[in-house]
Amino acid sequence: MSTEIKIFKNQELQSYNSFAVSAKADRFAKVESEDELKYLLHTHVKKEQPLLVLGGGSNILLTRNFPGFVIQNAISDINIIKENSTHAWLKAAGGTSWHKLVLYCIERNYAGIENLSLIPGSVGAAPLQNIGAYGVELKDHFISLEALNIKSRKTEIFNLQDCEFGYRDSIFKNRLKNKYIILNVTLKLDKEPAFKLSYGAVRNTLENMKIDKLSIKAVSDAIIFLRQTKLPDPRKLPNAGSFFKNPYVSPEQLVHLREKHPHIPSFPTENDLLKIPAAWLIEQCQWKGERLGKTGVYHKQAVVLANYDGASGNDILALSKKIQSDVYSKFMIELSPEVTII
Ligand code: NAP
Repeated sequence: MSTEIKIFKNQELQSYNSFAVSAKADRFAKVESEDELKYLLHTHVKKEQPLLVLGGGSNILLTRNFPGFVIQNAISDINIIKENSTHAWLKAAGGTSWHKLVLYCIERNYAGIENLSLIPGSVGAAPLQNIGAYGVELKDHFISLEALNIKSRKTEIFNLQDCEFGYRDSIFKNRLKNKYIILNVTLKLDKEPAFKLSYGAVRNTLENMKIDKLSIKAVSDAIIFLRQTKLPDPRKLPNAGSFFKNPYVSPEQLVHLREKHPHIPSFPTENDLLKIPAAWLIEQCQWKGERLGKTGVYHKQAVVLANYDGASGNDILALSKKIQSDVYSKFMIELSPEVTII
């Protein structure tokens, strides 16, 4: 089995990233089991060699050729590992499609992650940025994950506290960046749903659907409808979802901002800070629907940057920098990318 892993030299990565930008990997391999991954690391990847693990490639911007090993994690598996009358614990392998896991839960009436329907990418990438949408984050149902320490080649377990989850953030984007490969994630789902309908768009969509009874499936359908209406399909218009995180400001900063921009929207957060939609800031800088060469800002959602016509990673990066600079000049707010830039 293990010896059959194919290793490609100078592999084009255009079809492995949702921005569809061209970049080459010095070495590339796809793994379909943990054993294959361990074998590959043991036999072909030198410890000092740069390593990039791709899941769906849906949250990455490649701005250069990658001078090391790119591994596509295609280890896909979902198992119910424990169940009682109120909850189910699921373990999903890192290469499983995130949306496949959501659908698996919906089919079995396991509630909790339906608001995270149709988020592109893999299960293994989900903890990196603590994926979130419509008022639910991965951390709300996260129990633990197993990750391979790239240096020691040993498997370690990370519980909720260990992951240091934050807003679209975790320890794996910071102190432990590029040090681990996430092998699998365990989540705890509810058998009795506690629907999260705090976002007006979700409530309105459900109302328009005229359903008899609220269900996990109905909420998922509403979210899928919203995402399909508002976000471009990367297969038709290459993009990586939200390019920027929503910035947080202090209450004092908001008062100050409101003096000049009385209509600036804000939302309370778990800490005392306030969240400002990045899309609103970008729109105020007249970027919504605008193009810059082969790249542009999506006309229905300004936080989405897209590759309209064979742009390079650097073209997209240049657009993102212009937007950051304009937002800073107008609001004195720094936008940070949510997308990982390589
Ligand atoms: P939207 O409804 O246009 O709202 C803009 C921003 O305002 C959102 O990013 C959201 O923050 C915030 N917001 C809106 N209503 C809120 C409420 N009731 N309470 C707290 N915050 C609120 O956003 P959208 O672009 O259509 O996205 C809808 C959801 O899908 C959001 O949760 C968004 O994060 C998620 N999404 C994620 C990605 C991604 O690539 N990561 C891509 C598209 C959409 P939050 O982002 O913190 O929720």
